[in-house]
Amino acid sequence: LASWILISGASVIDGTGGPPQPGASVLLKDNRIAAVGEDISTEELVPRGEHVHVIDATGKTVMPGMIDAHCHISFGEARTQEEQDLYTSPESRTLRSAWNAKKILRAGFTGISAPGGSWNIGVAVREGIDAGMVEGPRTTTGGRFITTSNGISDFYPTWVGVPESSIGVLANTKDEMITEVRKQVKNGVDLVKLGDSPYGDYLAFTYDEIAAMTDMVHQLKRRVTIHARGAEAVAAAVRAGVDWVMHGDHMTDEEVGMLAESGIPLCPTITLLCNFSDWGALAGVSSKRRDGAKRLLDKSATALTKAREAGVRFLIGTDTGFAITPFGEWHAREMEMLVKYAGLTPLQTIQAATQNGAKVLNLEGQVGVVAPDMLADVIVVDGDPSKDIRVLQDKRRIHAVIKDGQIVEFDAETETRRWPYDRAQIISGSEITYDLVYGEGPPRAPDPIGWSADEQGELAFELRAQELAARDEQPSDNR
Ligand SMILES: [Zn+2]
Repeated sequence: LASWILISGASVIDGTGGPPQPGASVLLKDNRIAAVGEDISTEELVPRGEHVHVIDATGKTVMPGMIDAHCHISFGEARTQEEQDLYTSPESRTLRSAWNAKKILRAGFTGISAPGGSWNIGVAVREGIDAGMVEGPRTTTGGRFITTSNGISDFYPTWVGVPESSIGVLANTKDEMITEVRKQVKNGVDLVKLGDSPYGDYLAFTYDEIAAMTDMVHQLKRRVTIHARGAEAVAAAVRAGVDWVMHGDHMTDEEVGMLAESGIPLCPTITLLCNFSDWGALAGVSSKRRDGAKRLLDKSATALTKAREAGVRFLIGTDTGFAITPFGEWHAREMEMLVKYAGLTPLQTIQAATQNGAKVLNLEGQVGVVAPDMLADVIVVDGDPSKDIRVLQDKRRIHAVIKDGQIVEFDAETETRRWPYDRAQIISGSEITYDLVYGEGPPRAPDPIGWSADEQGELAFELRAQELAARDEQPSDNR
């Protein structure tokens, strides 16, 4: 017997950028969409005696499950780079990543692509999900970022290097880069992530290196993407023929034109910057870092507006996986931010999150559109995201999530409990000097990272509270 689901009486946003179709129903048969329209007759379409599960979606919206093309499943909601790179065993990281996968799915995201991460955890999580052992979105993944000295993920001094437990692997010659590509493909990645300069101030790789790695990835029938904030990095990546580009903050007319002409999609991924600059103060982020994010965001807004005008194809990505972008929380915020900063319409951002996103899942033309014969990844939303894109961020409005024809069960505990990586070995939030203790007036301790005295005080208090909470939650705390 087939499994049938009828979602009735909804407004359907099909994911191709067209307007909602009111009063329509969607019939799912097993893991495929069987029919979409106003007059679906289950008596005609469903054999007599087979049960149809009905979801009444009157007044609600049905749309494809969304796809986050930049979701670091193995980043562990780290607050510091050291937490992301050094603490927590690979085994424990893997369990935590599997736990986090559930939250993404329940937020209405039925697909993710992880452009790099810790160890080979992305591959393990993908295998667990594909085997039906782990609950989570459809997943494609890279391994550790391939970087070069001065590239992103080369975070530590040269005398420390890029540790094996970190999210990057250091390669400083073309031979080392090609060897790393071969190893990663052998270890099961879907894509290879190249890490150019962190903020786009310079080109970290050479064009030849990017081209050589891209060619080897393609020879091995995998895909390649690049962290490319700088204009030169975008130009080199487009010339080399990467499959999609991450960020593009500093693009000028020239690189925007190259990108548009090539048809290579762009995954802006501004949610991380937006969370830093809008709400970083809530999480103890220094004013220096918040201001830096705001400046980069202003650059991005200019470049992304040009890209939209030039017809560049957008993807939706969030850099989920940091403490300020936890799993299941802000995936749909990227859509609101692209409306705000790049001038996309809500329906264009939905297309970016659905039809366009199919590419990063290696499922072009098979998922991301509500139409007959497509894979049955659909969500039911309470509200009209074509009018207010923000409704997609409110999990109370995600009425149903169906992935591969299966209805996802919700429970509040899974959606709210967090399981971050072990905490960094922070000894204190600021200095205790003689003057601080016995002096008059406000503390005059040195301020090496640019925080105000108030911010230091708040942070010290907050860190203490977090450490105590983490110790209660985690018997495995590393002290
Ligand atoms: Zn990222």
